Amino acid sequence: MIFICDVMLGKLARFLRMLGLDAPYIRQGENPGFPPEEGVPFLFFTKTTAKTGRPGAILVRSIDPQEQILEIREYIAPYINSAAVMTRCIECNVLLAEVRKEDIEPFVPEYIYHHHNEFRTCPSCRKVYWEGSHADDMNMMITKVIGDG
Ligand SMILES: [Zn+2]
Repeated sequence: MIFICDVMLGKLARFLRMLGLDAPYIRQGENPGFPPEEGVPFLFFTKTTAKTGRPGAILVRSIDPQEQILEIREYIAPYINSAAVMTRCIECNVLLAEVRKEDIEPFVPEYIYHHHNEFRTCPSCRKVYWEGSHADDMNMMITKVIGDG
């Protein structure tokens, strides 16, 4: 399932990626992969009432990203898998690659390097992730989406 986020839902797209979901973001004037390849199931979250006639469209009313997560919770909850959390770059929506610890030493703070053993990196922007990066945001979201359900 692909969760396409329309313009004005960039923060929501980042939250979904944090949860490991495939969440492309449509910037103003761009239309990358919309609709996706034939046969690929998708939902299209938008803040624009005029676009609600499109296939898969779901209108998001709140302007607060944390409330937006709640609004769409029923749609994303079945796709959340705790093993998929932190498998995707929050900036690029690209799947992260495993990386050897030695290889990323120059790119992470010394404290982080010494206190973590598993690191992943984004093949697109080279950002380095480790267990615990974004943990606070992630825990907040997981609690919101599945925690009390
Ligand atoms: Zn990236």
